[in-house]
Amino acid sequence: MKITSVVGVNFGDEGKGRMVDYFAGQYDYVVRYQGGDNAGHTVKNEFGEFALHLIPSGIFHEKTVNILGPGMVVNLESLKREIDQLKEGGIHVGPDNLKVSHRASLLLPYHVQQDQEEEKRLKDKKYGSTKRGIAPAYGDKYMKKTIQLGELYDMDLCKDHFDQLVEYKKEVFNYQYDFTGIWDRLVELREELLPYIVDVYDILDQAVKDKSILLEAQLGAMRDVDYGIYPYTSSSSPLACYAPLGCGYPKLKIDSVVGIVKAYGTCVGEGPFVGELTGDQGDRLREMGHEYGAATGRPRRISYFDCVSSRYGVNLQGATELALTKLDVLSSYDEIPVIVAYKKGDITTKEFPFTPMLDGFEPVYKTFKGWKQDLTGIKTYQDLPQEAKDYIEAIEEELATPIKYISIGPARDELIVR
Ligand code: GDP
Repeated sequence: MKITSVVGVNFGDEGKGRMVDYFAGQYDYVVRYQGGDNAGHTVKNEFGEFALHLIPSGIFHEKTVNILGPGMVVNLESLKREIDQLKEGGIHVGPDNLKVSHRASLLLPYHVQQDQEEEKRLKDKKYGSTKRGIAPAYGDKYMKKTIQLGELYDMDLCKDHFDQLVEYKKEVFNYQYDFTGIWDRLVELREELLPYIVDVYDILDQAVKDKSILLEAQLGAMRDVDYGIYPYTSSSSPLACYAPLGCGYPKLKIDSVVGIVKAYGTCVGEGPFVGELTGDQGDRLREMGHEYGAATGRPRRISYFDCVSSRYGVNLQGATELALTKLDVLSSYDEIPVIVAYKKGDITTKEFPFTPMLDGFEPVYKTFKGWKQDLTGIKTYQDLPQEAKDYIEAIEEELATPIKYISIGPARDELIVR
């Protein structure tokens, strides 16, 4: 029995999807414990390329049971779409290998609309929301103004609750919602999705006895609602320490935390991003790494590897080991700069500053020699070019955590295990 959490150390998009896909075959259960359909994992495997927004990447492994935990906000329309797409791709999805917690919160179309209206209202001060309704859904959850999925068991009671929420929405928000349409569609979706909605506590209570569990986060540490670059964060906690709560089994003890770091920096959306490369340098890295959002197609902001924010992220996650992804993207570089400190006026720091203080900090770089060699086909650490090993080991030293996995391509076998 092993309990592992796979988490993002940076701003998200670190390549968690490919790492979870790699690990998933070794685990009996894969559980998503926070977030909604805002971010996306892109998984490339023998079945094709899939952008997963809600369903854990373990879905591709025949014997793996996938769970959406109570820490999530679930848009049933998106869930249905994702199930249908996977089925079209020849993947088996059914209540036997996909289970959704009856305590997860329902994300409804009016949350999406509210999100869109709020970003519009904020104009140039917008948070950079993916406009999937995640913040309003979490807001409602903590205001105790949404529906838990298990309420769909009894549609008479659920309708009463829904009508109360409608009354509240009408009084507080001046938007035009089609509440009747929302309810009618919910009734239709329930028909199909009810068999997936269960009490996952009982399942995990059995699982911990002799099964292995992989806990999958969405987004990265810098987007944590408490410790990230608030308010440019998500509305939940992608930290490993939240996994036991969000997965549906609060007394779970995690054995190891695999932190995913990308070989260079990216950030999608708004907020401070020290070392952002605008102009040609950023464009080059963005194109080489295909850095466009999986959920929205938005171009990601780019930087060189940032040891300052990454060390902060590693500490927040309590990572016991690291996976470094997308090393191959740097293969054409003569020299590769790495951010080793931040500087503002006469202050130089290696500590990640509190969000409002980040303004005005500039990166301090240390430059490494590039390896200028295609890494395709390399299977062992030993066979990596010396310059690549120097780069990896320098990052490892800065982050004071062993880099155990090195990803040199998106495919399942393009991974070096040290
Ligand atoms: P996630 O949300 O953390 O899973 O990240 P994304 O799925 O948004 O971004 C990862 C992207 O990088 C996907 O398109 C992957 O197929 C791709 N990818 C993952 N690892 C590697 C790698 O080592 N090299 C290359 N070239 N692409 C990778």
